Amino acid sequence: MGKRMFTRRQVLATASVGALATVANWPFKGIIIAGQDHNKLAIHGGKPVHTEGWPKWPVWDRNAENDIIEVLRSGKWWRGRGGHVAEFEKRYAELMDAKRCLATASGTTALLVALHVLGVDAGDEVLVSPYTFIASYNVILLTKALPVFVDTDPETFTMDPNKIEERINDRTTAILPVHIFGLPVNMDRVNEIARKHNLKVIEDACQAWLAEYRNKKAGTLGDLGCFSFQNSKHLPTGEGGAIIGNDDEIMDRCHAFHNCGRPYGSVKATTPYPTRGSNRRMQQFQAVMLMSQMKRIKKDADVRLENALYLNSIIKEIPGIIPYKLADGATRSAYHAYPFRYKKEYFNNAPRKRFLEALNAEGIPCWGGYGPQNKYGLIREALNSRGYKRLFPEERLRRFREENHLPGNDQLCQEAVCFFQSMLLGNKRDMDDIATAILKIYKNRDKLV
Ligand SMILES: *Cc1c(COP(=O)(O)O)cnc(C)c1O
Repeated sequence: MGKRMFTRRQVLATASVGALATVANWPFKGIIIAGQDHNKLAIHGGKPVHTEGWPKWPVWDRNAENDIIEVLRSGKWWRGRGGHVAEFEKRYAELMDAKRCLATASGTTALLVALHVLGVDAGDEVLVSPYTFIASYNVILLTKALPVFVDTDPETFTMDPNKIEERINDRTTAILPVHIFGLPVNMDRVNEIARKHNLKVIEDACQAWLAEYRNKKAGTLGDLGCFSFQNSKHLPTGEGGAIIGNDDEIMDRCHAFHNCGRPYGSVKATTPYPTRGSNRRMQQFQAVMLMSQMKRIKKDADVRLENALYLNSIIKEIPGIIPYKLADGATRSAYHAYPFRYKKEYFNNAPRKRFLEALNAEGIPCWGGYGPQNKYGLIREALNSRGYKRLFPEERLRRFREENHLPGNDQLCQEAVCFFQSMLLGNKRDMDDIATAILKIYKNRDKLV
């Protein structure tokens, strides 16, 4: 599976010994030890710092193979009234400290169900973080509501709580905070504002499995929390998603809606099909695979956390490198990516693009995070559509366009640098290589442009 796999014990052993003791001096020593060759940047033909590859993703347990074949041979591939999907729901709710869970076909469908059930309707407005995967916008647009962007705090990568209230008006019905990269949003402030203005809160926790806010699981802090199990995610099964919540009546309505509007629990059969609905169901194959994947999720999360904290402690020493900061009240990130900001002023004004090229060349895969999607074509297309022109007064759409300037988000989109979550499943030496490579680039900054 992995090009280079570590046993859990090896990872923990290497990561825990004197993790913080060597911080200040270590990276500098690394470059000197490496010798002449290492001092020339790989983009200029020097030897890359890291040549051993990285842990691969996704991975799976051999035992899942039997379980999947059993489902195949049973002929019961859909969830019906329960089956493996219901068992997964029970286990995932337990893992997340939630009362209930509903499995869905994807994270996108989880969000669509949550928006519908919490009453977000055509012509409403939903406050959303612009720094996210595009699905967080699309679900609002598909609900024919207006995604109103709350600027991002570049330090925390998440919704700036001080910018929420100014965006609220009498059409606002919900807030959709995104725990991007697994970094929890300041949920105390979001919930306080939501209560004051009578708004629903839907957490996009699609990257935040086992992240914590005041030691509570991300996804359990608002009215509903949504998760994704797509191929790249930490609990991957190709496609899949879930909604978690503590209110039985709301969760019954989620179930009914996701199953063509058939009655479920407190959603009674007053007539056949008492409510509207859709098909957003998870398959049995996905559920058995997820139950197998769940066996490793806590251990993986601990390894990512330990490596990320170690990486923080060493790279923050390098000028112009600013690791993410947790929002007030956030106690644990899930690290769907490890993000930091690159300040080009400290690197001889070399553009981030050049820094990314140099770091990739050193054998450290990285990318620049999300772009300024609030300026992308989908928003213009929606606002110019016949439906939106009917649903919103011209004046409202004009003001939306005017207010669609997000300096914090724009800054972050220019400065962010991300490492893939799977890299954090490596060992301490791998983290040292990351720091060495960044420092090597810093030391060669005069040759970077
Ligand atoms: C992955 C993701 C989604 C959508 O999940 P899918 O399962 O791909 O539909 C939504 N929001 C965020 C932040 C995500 O990362």
